[in-house]
Amino acid sequence: MTTIADNLQRVRERVSTACAGAQRRVEDVTLLAVAKTFGPEAVREAFAAGQRAFGENYIQEAVEKAALLADLPIEWHCIGPIQSNKTRLVAAHFAWAQTVDRLKIAQRLSEQRPEGLPPLQVCIQVNIDGGPSKSGVPPQEALALAREVAQLPRLKLRGLMTIPEPAADFAAQKAVHARARALFDELRGAGLALDTLSMGMTADLEAAIAAGSTMVRVGTAIFGARPSA
Ligand SMILES: *Cc1c(COP(=O)(O)O)cnc(C)c1O
Repeated sequence: MTTIADNLQRVRERVSTACAGAQRRVEDVTLLAVAKTFGPEAVREAFAAGQRAFGENYIQEAVEKAALLADLPIEWHCIGPIQSNKTRLVAAHFAWAQTVDRLKIAQRLSEQRPEGLPPLQVCIQVNIDGGPSKSGVPPQEALALAREVAQLPRLKLRGLMTIPEPAADFAAQKAVHARARALFDELRGAGLALDTLSMGMTADLEAAIAAGSTMVRVGTAIFGARPSA
């Protein structure tokens, strides 16, 4: 096995152990492999080991990488900030956009989604721990934005996504993730048909799964450490 295949196997074991501990079904948690800064060969290795969903932060980099991997049926997720001048690329090249936090961006994505493609799957990014300089809609505005996004014809609203600050230990991680889960349940209670709560990364995927995450986004544990920016 390659290192990446080995790593993927270990991450899958972490996910299944966490699901067992939380009495959840392993099929209810999707693993998204985050390949930012790693080249197409790394993605190819993970694909060969059975991984199908990949997350990318840098839109231009992702589009170039995806072009080199066009022979593979990969599901690409945009998990980085989306500026207005990048919506056309996101609409054309991704299956999912997880970082929608403004109506204007959602409207552009809907207008620009090419006719030949299925609706763009979307999550609303929520600034769950209130970091002042962070992207994401404040939790108290999530319901209103979700209702508007759900009306857009070429988008399919799937759920919420969060990137909390690193927390010290499992209990602190789980407490923040539990707030996101409560918000997710509140929106569902308000009648929105959501099925995706994207939260948890290499350092906190167990806590996220314990709190009710349905999608963990894992980079370092699969591909190794990224060069620091
Ligand atoms: C980089 C990144 C990840 C993966 O982080 P790791 O700690 O390497 O697992 C997940 N989500 C987002 C939004 C990221 O930017």
